[in-house]
Amino acid sequence: MTDYKHILLAVDFSAHSEDIAQQAVLMAQQNQAQLSLVHVLDNIPMPQVSYGSVISLNEKADNDLLEAEKQKLLAMAKYLCIDSGHCWLIWGVPKQEIVQLAERTKVDLIVLGSHGRHGLALLLGSTATGVLHYAQCDVLAVRLQAD
Ligand code: AMP
Repeated sequence: MTDYKHILLAVDFSAHSEDIAQQAVLMAQQNQAQLSLVHVLDNIPMPQVSYGSVISLNEKADNDLLEAEKQKLLAMAKYLCIDSGHCWLIWGVPKQEIVQLAERTKVDLIVLGSHGRHGLALLLGSTATGVLHYAQCDVLAVRLQAD
């Protein structure tokens, strides 16, 4: 089996995020790998910031919604013992930004959740399907049970 050196955990802050995070932490421990964390902002308005941009975690955001997302990400990073240098908040389309970040930062395993969609939802696609399709590296899709 490959020894992974850099693992990227993608979180959407849904109820299952902690379960997915536990899998990523386990993989990082087993492989003695660096763990990085990413959240992609795809549902809040971002005036004055161009598509696909990385948002600084070091300065206070001028937008309350953005600041709240930033604090959620930093709290999760602290809980997982990931330093802010390996923590990413990016504006854009999740599947594209996750794949591009993984390539830019030489990630060799992406960990995310998968809902096992059917019917129309499957046809419309999902973040997990998109990442599995486009990623150059391995992808661990943690199967999430329906609530
Ligand atoms: P979905 O296909 O939207 O149900 O999401 C599947 C998984 O992709 C989630 O469990 C997360 O691990 C990841 N993901 C979805 N949306 C985002 C996002 N905005 N930022 C980072 N990761 C995400």
